[in-house]
Amino acid sequence: MNTLNQPYHRVLLKLSGESLAASGKHGIDAHRLSAYVQDIKEAHERGIEIAIVIGGGNIFRGVTGTYTGIDRYSGDQMGMLATVINSLALCSALRHAGVHADVLTAVRMEPVGEFYSKWKADSLLRQGHVVILSCGTGNPYFTTDTGAALRGIEIEADAMLKGTRVDGIYTADPEKDPTATKFDTISYDEIYERKLKVMDLTASTLCRENALPIVVFDMDKPGNLQAVLRGEAIGTIVR
Ligand code: UDP
Repeated sequence: MNTLNQPYHRVLLKLSGESLAASGKHGIDAHRLSAYVQDIKEAHERGIEIAIVIGGGNIFRGVTGTYTGIDRYSGDQMGMLATVINSLALCSALRHAGVHADVLTAVRMEPVGEFYSKWKADSLLRQGHVVILSCGTGNPYFTTDTGAALRGIEIEADAMLKGTRVDGIYTADPEKDPTATKFDTISYDEIYERKLKVMDLTASTLCRENALPIVVFDMDKPGNLQAVLRGEAIGTIVR
């Protein structure tokens, strides 16, 4: 494995649950799953240590549940279980592609996955496994973006790579405002001052206070993950 000339040694890759679903649909789309596996496998083969936090929005979100009479606490627990479903799918597909991968859970549920600790995750990463950290933070009232920020800090990742369907952070929503322009780099404070919807405030505050850089990029374009890992200027870097 060649780890020379790479800006990142260890990364936390955040994928949204919705990105696993086909456009406008729920559940897991086989083509999207296999495209992600291909990208992650190539990154892994370059010797980069990869931890992944995946959301559950393609299956269930706690806030949405409250509209149908499910209390927020229970709904959030359902949402965390949704992240486990996605994590198991990704882990299984990675293993099928020949990549050593494990799911750790922030809520105890052996034998579905081992209970998360920083040391367990660190040990697996050092052994060359891709580690999928499920259940977000393990607590209701949080998001998987916050889970990703927290885990990224804990495992001392060099950056949090936030794979989205947009190619970076814009001055306004590019789908609604044709004059919106993209930032190459932006500070955490500017995101806050401009009220840009990059991630929730808890997540961005954690990143800011612990100096964890965030790279927002379009994960749906094949090869983009490799480009980010090579340090190419695609997407937006938040420092
Ligand atoms: N969730 C939670 N605590 C966490 C992370 C997630 O309760 O630490 C629940 C919450 O209900 C959330 C759902 O899991 O809506 C799915 O996560 P998220 O909405 O972040 O998924 P994404 O939007 O990334 O697909």
